[in-house]
Amino acid sequence: MDSKIKDLLSKLTLEEKASLCSGKDFWRTKPVERLNIPSVMVSDGPSGLRTQVENGVNENDSRDSVSFPSGCATASSFDRSLLRHLGEILGEEANDYNVSTVLGPAINIKRSPLCGRNFEYLSEDPYISGELGAAYISGVQSKNVGTSVKHFAANNQETNRFSVSEEVDERTLREIYLTGFETCVKKAAPTTIMCSYNAINGELSSQNKWLLKDLLRDEWGYKGMVVSDWGAVFDRVKGIKADLSLEMPYSGGQTDKDIVEAVKNGSLTMEELDEAVSHVLEMVFNYVDNKQSGVYDREKDHIESGLIAQESCVLLKNDKVDGAAVLPIKPNSGKVLFVGEFAENPRCNGGGSSKIKCYKMTGAVAAAKEAGIQIDYEKDFSDKALNAAKDAEVVVVFAGLPESYESEGEDRKTLDMPAEQNEFIEKLAAVNKRVVVLLHNGSPVSMPWVDKVAAILECYLGGENVGTAQVNLLFGKANPSGKLAETFPLRLEDTPCYMYYPGNGRKSIYAEGIFVGYRWYDARKLPVLFPFGHGLSYTSFEYSDLRVSSKAFKDLDGVEVSVNVKNTGAVEGKEIVQLYVSDKTGVEVRPEKELKGFEKVSLKPGETKTVSFKLDKRSFAFWNTDIGEWYAPSGTYEIKIAASSRDIRLTTEVDVTSSIKKAFTIIPQSTIGDMMRFREMAEIVRPEYEKECKAVIGDMTEEEFQKLYPFTKDVMREMIKNNPFRLSRGKNGLTMEDILKKIEGYNKALEE
Ligand code: BGC
Repeated sequence: MDSKIKDLLSKLTLEEKASLCSGKDFWRTKPVERLNIPSVMVSDGPSGLRTQVENGVNENDSRDSVSFPSGCATASSFDRSLLRHLGEILGEEANDYNVSTVLGPAINIKRSPLCGRNFEYLSEDPYISGELGAAYISGVQSKNVGTSVKHFAANNQETNRFSVSEEVDERTLREIYLTGFETCVKKAAPTTIMCSYNAINGELSSQNKWLLKDLLRDEWGYKGMVVSDWGAVFDRVKGIKADLSLEMPYSGGQTDKDIVEAVKNGSLTMEELDEAVSHVLEMVFNYVDNKQSGVYDREKDHIESGLIAQESCVLLKNDKVDGAAVLPIKPNSGKVLFVGEFAENPRCNGGGSSKIKCYKMTGAVAAAKEAGIQIDYEKDFSDKALNAAKDAEVVVVFAGLPESYESEGEDRKTLDMPAEQNEFIEKLAAVNKRVVVLLHNGSPVSMPWVDKVAAILECYLGGENVGTAQVNLLFGKANPSGKLAETFPLRLEDTPCYMYYPGNGRKSIYAEGIFVGYRWYDARKLPVLFPFGHGLSYTSFEYSDLRVSSKAFKDLDGVEVSVNVKNTGAVEGKEIVQLYVSDKTGVEVRPEKELKGFEKVSLKPGETKTVSFKLDKRSFAFWNTDIGEWYAPSGTYEIKIAASSRDIRLTTEVDVTSSIKKAFTIIPQSTIGDMMRFREMAEIVRPEYEKECKAVIGDMTEEEFQKLYPFTKDVMREMIKNNPFRLSRGKNGLTMEDILKKIEGYNKALEE
């Protein structure tokens, strides 16, 4: 704590301290004028600045602002530098508007495609969420504007979001739902973290000591401030004790009184309150004392928004018709028909707190005009449009989810788009063989017409200038380079938590555990509509020469992996190279493979570049609940280099040696087999196992053996493995004390 904060703490009265722990109004912290503590403003986030107009009374009184592509879109760029760039732009805008903190990024895991807020979130995969979240944070904070990574943690449904308890086992929490936050904290030190509304295993996040103090502060070493989600606070005093520093928005003074009362009656110590206040003061003074000027140039940022969208759209399908790919559309190739209102007025951002009143909207119709490209346009999905489609060379349908289908505050009920749209796309496909569907949606939709149309471009919620991106991509001025950061399932019934989502209101049971997204579809070998990591380009790429810096290494040393990627097509393009790790040790239940690296590389036609990755212990580890540590068992792993989760191009095997010898504590109920699963533990128990096998099986032939036992010698060997140590009590005079001594010896040997 610096001396200024210490000094202020010594001067603040109890009441003033308590007052600093909640907001002044919807967007501002409270000032203490006599001590020159100013009030600072925060603002949503994450994909544009939603600041309130002067004297605005309700949440909708926002100033016009540039709307950028939502998280679902930007994540598909798989581009750390792009997310950082977006952060820098927002930081610059925030400085102009005196916004101390941008409330974002939102990085919760997409547990179900039905979650109403998936459009804001990044991915079903924690590695992407962490990497891209950290890049965004670094960008905003490079302008000395704060961020609020949210919603910590497990805010994976909107149904009953204020009260539902997410019932998740610790391994699943650590590996899936917390990792993204951990990466953000460790890589980018967000100035604030916003706790979620929901409870985790029965305790509200706003008062969850395990979450906010033990894990975030003590284990991860978080130095910033925890702020509540708006209205997430229930027991304010418990919250302060759990390390929730700032309650937002205002509490009408009620909870400030609770704090004062608690200090007076001794249930809250002054040290505990000072801790909370110091974090609020640090957040305030970090901003005001180092304030940078910023220029919010809306015209420039409108263009930036279009460029970001261009990097984020995903080409899902691009068939050849009469020998040539339908996209890009060749200039002067005949009549190009745009159909659907989204061509003029695209759905470009999601409903709720991140909704931006757009500065200006550029749809594809306007963008085509601006680019001097002649198109025909039919706004309605009508018979007139159908007739116009008959003699068109290419028909581009602008479809997707209407606003009422997905929003903060409620979950979706279905993967389906409105039936009228699906039916109309089918009708168009019946009269024209070059139908291109452009989708505007915040999360996966079903596509009953998928095999009938020629091409599909997923534009997600692409911000206010998505039209420019669409036109550039459709006509080949730009080459699509996004890939899906989430799986598009075939059916809702195939999704990992189909049977449990969103629970009974009070509880949501995470029975699917770590098998979320592609981890689930891979394990179940389920066909999907489009797999995680999928995305096409107008060029093609060839992968070769996968190398590792070492074939066998210690977990703490890690390994470097490199691969060559060549652009084998005719146009410049970007490829997203994915690295997955597969645990082949057989020690624990694990996903078939997990994403542990990605790089986006730009290549001219014929050009080859080497793409490199650094893998560390965490790349191989799972959360071992027996020892409460990240643990990468010794043994064989596969490193897979892939163009998508279902398009593995190259694979190599490596051997990892664990720095941890003791994978669990041996007890009398442990079996020889338990130990034999682990390389180090197997070593010390193998002599005992072999001795036992010899004693029982000896030199008997299979025939001799089966005269004595009703099974084979191999079964007997397995049975010996399954015997708990306690079973040897009484054998050769062994007492339980002897057994305990032997076990203690094993445990000690493994600790050395
Ligand atoms: C949302 C947050 C948002 C806050 C302020 C809440 O309802 O969950 O994400 O930052 O409102 O608008």
